[in-house]
Amino acid sequence: MSRSEWIRVSKSKPCKICSRSDWCAVSANGKIAYCMRIESSKPCKSGGWIHKLDDCQLISTVPKRMPKPIVRSEPSKDFFSLARQYQHNLTDLTVLSKDLGVSTESLKRLEVGWDGRNYTFPMRNGNDRIVGIRLRRNGSKYCVTGSKTALFWPDGVVVDSKQPLWICEGESDCAALLDLGFDAIGRPSCNSGINDIKTILARYNRDVIIMADKDKAVTRPDGPVYYPGIEGALRLAEVIKPIVRSVKCVLPAVGTDIREWVQNGATREAVLAAANNARTL
Ligand SMILES: [Zn+2]
Repeated sequence: MSRSEWIRVSKSKPCKICSRSDWCAVSANGKIAYCMRIESSKPCKSGGWIHKLDDCQLISTVPKRMPKPIVRSEPSKDFFSLARQYQHNLTDLTVLSKDLGVSTESLKRLEVGWDGRNYTFPMRNGNDRIVGIRLRRNGSKYCVTGSKTALFWPDGVVVDSKQPLWICEGESDCAALLDLGFDAIGRPSCNSGINDIKTILARYNRDVIIMADKDKAVTRPDGPVYYPGIEGALRLAEVIKPIVRSVKCVLPAVGTDIREWVQNGATREAVLAAANNARTL
């Protein structure tokens, strides 16, 4: 099939295999999906996998039966199908939206779901594959057993954008940055997700802004104090510096994190001004 016969997926017509709105494609006749994230028995030389849509009995939004991905050296669970199932369970996002002070639209982009007791947030590795699920209830955070700790990577945040990529801590901060109209990815904590972030940034030369948490000072056992959020952000900046166009760290002007700052009236302009004033590392 020639190149022109492939149509890139979009927001209005997401990939029928992985449900994401970028990177994948579908044949002009609608019968074949070319998915970059979910494996099949037919890999392509240029990356990605061919899926015959006729065989999968897919309907446009939520598939009745997910094609079981063939997974190599991956976690024991099929986190992709599990995340979809949880997402399908959650029809009303307004409670969580009010609770966190972020929009339902941004929560949707993070593919939030419900497992019967907890809110669920899929975690994706640097290749945009779901490798784990975070569980969130009353502020406590756990993972589905077998999960790998990975990134909160919203739908529509693409690798090869000319916009700066904002990196923050956690799924709710990520939602707050999306609400301000930024391209944002959340990492699971102030120390983790470094390799997955490197995988993403190695693919496209980008400006990066790390939104650090201004958390409380922690006293080390041997005496001196340190700030985990800030130190974690600076460590990440150090690691990615050789592979990005530029990197800066920004702290919230009010509160301990970007979500609190937004709740206290941060506008896109104010946050951008803070980023512009921050020193390039
Ligand atoms: Zn896909």
